[in-house]
Amino acid sequence: MEKIFFTFKIPDEGMLLLKGYEVTGNTQDRFLSKKEIIEGAKNCSALITLLSDKIDSEVIVSLPRLKVIANYAVGFNNIDIETARQRGVRVTNTPGVLTDATADLAFGLILATSRRIVESDRFVREHRFNGWKPDLFTGPSLADKNLGIVGLGRIGKAVAIRAKAFGMKVVYHNRKPMLPEEEEALGVRHMSLEDLLRISDFLSLHVPLTAETRHMLNEKRISMMKREAIIINTARGALIDEEYLIKALRDGRIAAAGLDVYEEEPFISQELLDLPNVVLLPHVGSATHEARRAMSIMVGRNVAAVLEGKEPPNVVV
Ligand code: NAP
Repeated sequence: MEKIFFTFKIPDEGMLLLKGYEVTGNTQDRFLSKKEIIEGAKNCSALITLLSDKIDSEVIVSLPRLKVIANYAVGFNNIDIETARQRGVRVTNTPGVLTDATADLAFGLILATSRRIVESDRFVREHRFNGWKPDLFTGPSLADKNLGIVGLGRIGKAVAIRAKAFGMKVVYHNRKPMLPEEEEALGVRHMSLEDLLRISDFLSLHVPLTAETRHMLNEKRISMMKREAIIINTARGALIDEEYLIKALRDGRIAAAGLDVYEEEPFISQELLDLPNVVLLPHVGSATHEARRAMSIMVGRNVAAVLEGKEPPNVVV
């Protein structure tokens, strides 16, 4: 019987699809080391992984029976795709089912940062609310503001739809612009990254983390932005040079940031934690019950397909 190893427990729905196989894995509430993953997945045909598991060439080469790595995420920057390709190991992900959940959270961060919701909550809990005041926790409105979306894919488009409902003007940057009729239907306009940075009042990142996009928001690019701009990142932390972002937020070079992801996740620097003008979340973009269950089913289907010798539904390679 073919064996499957999971590095962390995921919802049951997908695992129920794998009943015909010998499934083992980590049932503790802690992440496994690379050594433990290699040891646990020895002789396994399938490996179910989280985005926090670094599946590098050493792991892949150490598992000669491996046929598939099923990542419980849409992003797959944690996996050495080239080595997997060379060794004929399939890699799968969970696109689409987490789009609305992640877009909701990105929009939640737009509202939380602009309307200073977290700061206001702290203020109330500290018993400092002593009456309505004209200037109490004022922030920018959303209507008529420019939202720049970098990466207008599944999640970026879902954010654009939400932003249009709030009366925002949406501009975007992709490597390949959409067709004019698609742009018109969504009410968005393509721009170079530099032009987009200059006009954005809000900037939301939705590109995958690749060698090309790492630190795409660096000192030079952040310096092009308006001082009143707010940066939202629900994609991957390393898209931004976090050290410079902290400096820019501290010096008032930009107004605020809403972050769900970090450069050295789960490490978050004390300087970032100390800033009042940031809202910090623990990588919960896809954390709805529905999305997490649907992601699990996708993982189950992807693993089952490969082990049955079929093409998996969600192929990375
Ligand atoms: P997607 O549909 O593949 O969209 C990615 C978009 O980025 C595409 O429109 C692509 O267009 C654009 N893009 C790629 N490389 C680019 C570059 N170098 N410059 C400019 N644009 C570029 O992916 P998705 O499903 O929306 O997911 C996006 C990312 O969100 C994932 O990769 C993942 O890292 C992250 N995510 C985070 C969470 C969370 O929990 N916080 C949850 C889900 C997803 P072109 O190819 O035309 O450039």
